Amino acid sequence: MEVDDLSPEVVTWGLATQFVGQRIVYHPVLTSTMDVARQEARQGAAEGTVVLADRQTAGRGRMERVWLTPGGNIALSLILYPPLSYLPYLIMLASLAVVHGIETTTGLKPQIKWPNDVLINGKKVCGILIESDVQGGSVSYSIIGIGLNVNLDPADFPEISPIATSLSHELGEDISRLKVLRCLLTELEGLYLRLSDAGSVFREWHDNLETLGREIEVQSGDTFYRGLAESVEVDGSLLLRGADGSLSRIVAGDVTLRR
Ligand code: ATP
Repeated sequence: MEVDDLSPEVVTWGLATQFVGQRIVYHPVLTSTMDVARQEARQGAAEGTVVLADRQTAGRGRMERVWLTPGGNIALSLILYPPLSYLPYLIMLASLAVVHGIETTTGLKPQIKWPNDVLINGKKVCGILIESDVQGGSVSYSIIGIGLNVNLDPADFPEISPIATSLSHELGEDISRLKVLRCLLTELEGLYLRLSDAGSVFREWHDNLETLGREIEVQSGDTFYRGLAESVEVDGSLLLRGADGSLSRIVAGDVTLRR
């Protein structure tokens, strides 16, 4: 497969955003785009700066889990300086931007697995990681990390092949990363600018969740919950109805969700 060029001038050429992706920090290979984005944010990088890599050698998911990024896929970290009130919505806007980006460029219909995965036909196509630094009640910076399987062949990675998919795997053809990336950046900005009406972003996120109405098991620290995923609250937390009728509120933090 010929891997398309993601160098900054190619990505930003004619990109119809005001700030998201107007500055790109690109490296063919990085340990993790999150690490570089954190350094950039601490040095006051312009809002909307995107750190991009072709490959990550130490890509991370939540709780220091590994995120595999071989060449041909998208690994990006977006730097934002949001007000504190926006923080619960960043996970919603990031997952919705991925859903919209995939739908627009491929016609596939992804769904969101609460709280942070995007699935196609029940398999994981994208992982999302949000890191925010809050000092004295205000946000110093937030970083949205997105790992999207564009041209990954799950069969090449036995450790994830039962749970993972990619756009090329779903469609049976190579996919232009550039097209998906540029659409994703436009969607991220559009949704971020929509956060002044956060309720509309919440409702759309809610409507795209595949988790609601399912029997699930959640691990939060050493505690296990099992029950019916009944609803989500505006701050993103999940309400789980236990077999005994009890209702548990699970915060979208360091939780693992199993079926
Ligand atoms: P889970 O997916 O079990 O709910 P999580 O949401 O906490 O876990 P993430 O932080 O989003 O997980 O991603 C890390 C996990 O995703 C890894 O433990 C691995 O199972 C899986 N994984 C790693 N790389 C990929 C990839 N490229 N595509 C799909 N899944 C991957």
